[in-house]
Amino acid sequence: MGLYIILMGVQGAGKGMQASYIRQNYNNIPQISTGDLFRAMKTRQDDFAKQIQQLMAEGKLISDEITNKVVEERLQLPDAGDGAIFDGFPRTPEQAEWLEGYLNSKGEKIAAVLLMKLDLYEAFRRAFGRVTSSSGESYNIYSNAERIDWKFSDHPEGAYPPRLEASLKANGEKLIRRPDDAHAHAIIKRIDTFINTTQPLINYYSKKGLVHEIDASKSIEDVSAEIKRILDAAR
Ligand code: AMP
Repeated sequence: MGLYIILMGVQGAGKGMQASYIRQNYNNIPQISTGDLFRAMKTRQDDFAKQIQQLMAEGKLISDEITNKVVEERLQLPDAGDGAIFDGFPRTPEQAEWLEGYLNSKGEKIAAVLLMKLDLYEAFRRAFGRVTSSSGESYNIYSNAERIDWKFSDHPEGAYPPRLEASLKANGEKLIRRPDDAHAHAIIKRIDTFINTTQPLINYYSKKGLVHEIDASKSIEDVSAEIKRILDAAR
């Protein structure tokens, strides 16, 4: 039996970090992020990929039919044979029902829904202040001020948003900000959408007794320990 887990949490709750913890400790099961799968289509020039790019740019959801298909194809890759960590999926009760049916048909089921709870202002600061090194290590201008130098510099023509320039104090390495973290209003919109879309799913999975709330404001190690406790009990 595989281990299928749904990770839910507002952006900045540390889902990526905990997904790699789960991956390393539970059979190397992959994180399946539908957002990443759709973003990967950026390099494709066909009409289908362009249509998806357009919907994403408008902040709209991709249809359930397309999303489920993309997830189905991903689940058929050999690395997902022992389970998967879903991130950003399901986003609608229809997707949740599809997933349940699909896993059922393989004799599998969702083991746990991990709901990583975070104060929304903290969620905003984690996203807005996030910068990453070339090796993929994450820092935050608000919480790692002792290790990084940073400033906002206005665009010469006043274009929005102002640029965040950040570098590591230790070696001067430039730190990069994800373009979608640069727009404060886009982050707020994502948080807002998250609240509206997750509540029906929380209701859906609560009825099945699968939801585990986790305090995501705790240290990374404490959150991982809590996740381990839940997953070991759920298996
Ligand atoms: P994310 O990185 O999870 O915020 O996803 C980025 C964008 O991809 C979303 O704003 C949607 O346009 C699309 N997307 C990601 N996951 C889903 C999903 N499960 N259902 C529909 N659209 C999705």
